[in-house]
Amino acid sequence: MAERAGLIVGIDLGTTFSLVSVVLPGDPKAVPMVIDNAMGEKLTPSVVALGEDGRLLVGAPAQAMATTHPDRVLRCFKREMGTDKTWTLGGSSFTPQELSAMVIKALVADAEAALGQPVTEAVVTVPAYFAGAQRRATRQAAELAGIPADRIINEPTAAAMAYGLHNLDKEQRAVVLDLGGGTFDVTVLEIIEGVVEVQASAGDARLGGEDFSEALARLLARRIAKEHGRDVTAHPHGWARLLEASERAKRRLSEVEETRLALPRLPLGPHMERDVELVITRADAEACWQPLLARIRDPIWRALRDGGITPSELDEVLLVGGATRMPVFVKEVAALCQRMPSRNLPPDEAVAMGAAVQAALKRGHAAVEDLVVTDVAPFSLGVAVVQAVGRQHLAGFFAPVLERGTVIPASRVKTFHTVNDGQDRLLIQVFEGEHSLVRENRELGQFELLQLDRAPAGQPVQVRFTYDLNGLLEVEMHVPHQQRTEILIIERTPGQLSPEELERARAAMAELKFHPRDALPNATALNRAEALYVELTGTPRSILGEAMAAFRLALEGQVDAEIDQARAMLLHTVAHFS
Ligand code: AMP
Repeated sequence: MAERAGLIVGIDLGTTFSLVSVVLPGDPKAVPMVIDNAMGEKLTPSVVALGEDGRLLVGAPAQAMATTHPDRVLRCFKREMGTDKTWTLGGSSFTPQELSAMVIKALVADAEAALGQPVTEAVVTVPAYFAGAQRRATRQAAELAGIPADRIINEPTAAAMAYGLHNLDKEQRAVVLDLGGGTFDVTVLEIIEGVVEVQASAGDARLGGEDFSEALARLLARRIAKEHGRDVTAHPHGWARLLEASERAKRRLSEVEETRLALPRLPLGPHMERDVELVITRADAEACWQPLLARIRDPIWRALRDGGITPSELDEVLLVGGATRMPVFVKEVAALCQRMPSRNLPPDEAVAMGAAVQAALKRGHAAVEDLVVTDVAPFSLGVAVVQAVGRQHLAGFFAPVLERGTVIPASRVKTFHTVNDGQDRLLIQVFEGEHSLVRENRELGQFELLQLDRAPAGQPVQVRFTYDLNGLLEVEMHVPHQQRTEILIIERTPGQLSPEELERARAAMAELKFHPRDALPNATALNRAEALYVELTGTPRSILGEAMAAFRLALEGQVDAEIDQARAMLLHTVAHFS
């Protein structure tokens, strides 16, 4: 197969962090490389903020504003993908797609700067648990960023590809556990001679590392309340600072048994600030995480059961996602899966690396041609039916047509029957979910079949569901005795932009003023310094103030060498007092 021109990158669009990776054309081993952003970091925070100069910031400089200007910082928008939620920033309103598009744009700019070539396409990953609407919204985000992404793949599948490529000659059954910032995905897979087959997936779309940070912050807030008699959670600025400190403490507790948090002048109420110091042990943290840890068990059991596998049959337990670095998570998983998990790849990079492998496959990279991936439907898809209970008919039951775990692309047909004599119409309502009652599942669309022949009850209607690799659904209804077929394509679901809205959003995106990429390290350094300045007092504060003033002066002077020197000095000072 020939290689096409232009780079196709793999993008892990995460809740807290995103990454971009590429397999360089011509690399004989097809090793995915994770690309550094303008700050020289591999992880770009999935954060958008409005800078002081009125321009938008994406990534680290935006993240650094979270404590000083929480009202101007937007994060965790991935959780709202596929919904109608919007956020307001600087007088404009933004959808989850638009905010995600800004992150994708930033990653693509980093890839182009690092590789010196235009990026023409992307493979973007989504949690296995993303439903159709969320997958379509993700594809729209890429379109808005000006980068077509016609392959949207599951994060665990991508991780499997990253691992599969490294283990081509081994045959194994594995479970991939991905605890990222906002989602937990469990995937059971089989790798045989380069073919990675996803056998089952389950998860919790609202459980992630952020919840562990927040649980820790709440524990600390209770201690602060005991000591100072004030509820810091009621004070947005104080709560934002405590959350940030808890995030840092959580990471430190992955390495050490005990850590100390210093929060000078923590706002605890109107006109009330206190110097707060707390010591937290790993054991304290692990105790407060028990309810969260309990929530990881269920999806693991469900995925193993759906995949028809017992823990003793597993050859590998693979961990991906930054939050799997928590020792208590590893301990819990080792007990559940009856074996120590392996982490051959950096846990936060595996998904992006797998997406890059998929991108290489798409562009026809010779070394990955043999690698085939199959995916499974994340939810059951079906229709609402009436059930006979004795002589009564009860409505609102769910009849799955294409079941969760079916390897996709797939097409399944089921025959339904009219329930009333002389019935001349039939409402087909399409749902996704696992509950026996449709009201507990999500409605995706409906179609009313009219002008049926007025015949006795029991007339057949065949309903065929065709589900493609990107999670798009086509519903075909066939009335055999009328030789008639109707088609419903599930397109417009909540949170999806119509073609006109997409065009308008694209035009609006072109109008937005972003901070220039080469000035991002400067903005980041200043924002990080500002955030620390709030926390410091006394001499450290004035030393930092001086370094900040020197840096601002250098920025005004516009001499690159002087700016670089003053920035290095400022970052050194920030690191020293952090
Ligand atoms: P991801 O989206 O996969 O990058 O995961 C990000 C999540 O991993 C965040 O909630 C981080 O707090 C968490 N995380 C990253 N590094 C560590 C660490 N060393 N210990 C505990 N959690 C971590």
